[in-house]
Amino acid sequence: MPTPNPRHPNFPIPGGPQLRAKGWRQEALLRLLENVLSVGEDPDNLVVYAALGKAARNWASHDAIVSALKSMDEDQTLLIQSGKPIGLLKTHARAPLVIMANCNLVGQWAKAEIFYELERKGLICWGGLTAGAWQYIGSQGVIQGTYEIFMRIAEKRFDGGLAGRFILTAGLGGMGGAQPLAGRMAGAAILVVEVDPERARKRREIGYLEEIAPDLDTALAMVDAAVKDKRALSVGLVGNAADIYPEIARRGIVPDIVTDQTSAHDLVYGYVPRGYTLDEVRELRRTDPAQLMSASRASIVPHVEAMLDFQRRGAEVFDNGNLIRTQAREGGVENAFDIPIFTEAYLRPLFARAIGPFRWMAQSGDPDDIRRIDDRLLQMFPDNWIVTNWIGLARRYVPFEGLPSRIAWLGHGERTELALAVNDMVGKGELLAPVTFSRDHLDAGAMAHPNIMTERMKDGSDAIADWPLLDAMLLCSSMADLVVVHSGGGGYAGYMTSAGVTVVADGTEAAAERLSHALTNDTALGVMRYADAGYEESLEEVAKKGIGYLGVK
Ligand code: NAD
Repeated sequence: MPTPNPRHPNFPIPGGPQLRAKGWRQEALLRLLENVLSVGEDPDNLVVYAALGKAARNWASHDAIVSALKSMDEDQTLLIQSGKPIGLLKTHARAPLVIMANCNLVGQWAKAEIFYELERKGLICWGGLTAGAWQYIGSQGVIQGTYEIFMRIAEKRFDGGLAGRFILTAGLGGMGGAQPLAGRMAGAAILVVEVDPERARKRREIGYLEEIAPDLDTALAMVDAAVKDKRALSVGLVGNAADIYPEIARRGIVPDIVTDQTSAHDLVYGYVPRGYTLDEVRELRRTDPAQLMSASRASIVPHVEAMLDFQRRGAEVFDNGNLIRTQAREGGVENAFDIPIFTEAYLRPLFARAIGPFRWMAQSGDPDDIRRIDDRLLQMFPDNWIVTNWIGLARRYVPFEGLPSRIAWLGHGERTELALAVNDMVGKGELLAPVTFSRDHLDAGAMAHPNIMTERMKDGSDAIADWPLLDAMLLCSSMADLVVVHSGGGGYAGYMTSAGVTVVADGTEAAAERLSHALTNDTALGVMRYADAGYEESLEEVAKKGIGYLGVK
């Protein structure tokens, strides 16, 4: 039985024992599509997150995907091009059920303006990373990543803890909405500036944000009191970050950590420039996108200048993957890249070992299935501090959204081990229904993004997109259930390519084989990508785990 969804009543949360497709593999992918809409930002328009990240091209495409998933046999493969189903072909029962290519434009054409034009003509749509591939699990998908960033900063700068520290950030959207909870879990007092009051309210309703302050003075007083008491606190403030950041700097206040997660990558459909109301921006999106683009870029200039100012005065400032430095540099802030990117600054040693954001979703819709998997995970990896610490925190703080899911940063071998144990649990009836395994596209072998994931790689291979393409082909050869190649849309056009994967653990021997090949090879490629770029940790991992890297110079 689907569960009612108070946030989006027309998009119930899937679940229950009833199959509508011819098998659990197809049913699970159908539920994942339903799930991304149930937890999405604007499901009526098929938008899942990041302003334009869509689950399907349009409603006709959506409906055709649903009927194909319901009617297809296990030995067929559904082809999806930028959110539109193109054909259902006979392959074989070990082939992927769904393969997708979303938003891939030829190099010289991969520009925001061309993307918008093709999008308006209905020829393309952007899948974000996990939106178009039906792998998004709500804001919790980025919570652990954000939390791990804060903790790496705590280790680097603040004796391992953030109690009594002030984090300033902006954006309470689909991804950015994770920030207040991650900051609170890390023990900090976090202030999040958000221009849209509706977004702030939504985050408070689902328990990710504790308080909304009526004005800046009150917000700063609340943060100040929490810092003095070394009390964890999350406060939202409705306002424009391009006004509020410079004002905080003008008052001489220097937060300990500063970042930003507005949709700065998209100057038309994402970022809201200062001096404009939300209604004016909505109107300009329709009538004069070019004016909006230049207003947004002009607004990002003081926004990033304030971040640089905080950095000069000692704050730990980083770009959290929204292209804000790139936009600022194009707007004339020549030293915007003095701000480091989070991947290089804090997470690269983990990615070099292919430790990254692995996740699983309980198809039953029952949170107890996730709790049982948590228990098994803790039994299996008692010495893995990142995992044991995270599961304890997640159980305490992270509310389930949509299909009950869990994220945990696991590496090569660990992912496969867990997935096989869970498949066994499904087979023995210890879980109510199958479980799907997936991961973020921001993963070791899966993404080329020279301003985010692969910035300043040791060997300078930042812009080479062969790795995600190899990854996707390898995943098809490794019998994954869904494989996707995504490239950037909107302001990300021309900036990135990534690969995504989903495998269904339905308790069968065949699923064990699929999980084993797909998950093992996916992380093996990740380790090899970094080994090839000369990272010591990766070469150690190759030797320790017997990964078949050839090491040709
Ligand atoms: P979203 O579009 O759902 O939310 C963005 C929010 O920013 C909206 O609520 C919007 O109202 C707000 N906003 C826009 N302009 C503002 C301004 N000037 N001041 C204050 N608030 C403003 O997007 P999202 O899914 O939350 O993602 C945010 C950004 O982070 C995107 O650029 C996305 O691509 C990026 N991202 C990075 C990572 C990562 O790996 N670190 C992960 C996910 C998303």
